[in-house]
Amino acid sequence: MNSAEYVKIKNEYLSSHLEKEDLKKKIIRYNKRLVRKYPWLKPEEDTYMYTELDRLADGWRIAFGDAICKDINKELRKHDSIDIYKIVDIRAVNGRLLWISEGQSPWCQLDKIFDKYEKIAANTCIVCGKETKDHICNKCK
Ligand SMILES: [Zn+2]
Repeated sequence: MNSAEYVKIKNEYLSSHLEKEDLKKKIIRYNKRLVRKYPWLKPEEDTYMYTELDRLADGWRIAFGDAICKDINKELRKHDSIDIYKIVDIRAVNGRLLWISEGQSPWCQLDKIFDKYEKIAANTCIVCGKETKDHICNKCK
């Protein structure tokens, strides 16, 4: 399962009050695997119904959620920072991606990565992940 499939399943789960044990299991299994790969995405509570990556807007997660985690982790690994790195917040402010984190070694060049994805986010629909000049594409408005 990738981020796009996860977003679909999560929204299906959230859209109904019915108990959906199968979807719940899929979400937990996926999030546990994600946290094994990227320990810095570990949620505060150990329910695994979400991870820190759930803070990223759906559209952006679909478009580059997997890629940004891979890039950050690679940089953290280079400077032995995987276990000390922490997400503070991931937000969209006026259509701009704000990835706020701390704890990494000063040698980590995360700013370069954030710049790269900030540029991509500026042209990506925050809802569906398709390319758009606005924050939200015409279809999602
Ligand atoms: Zn859209």
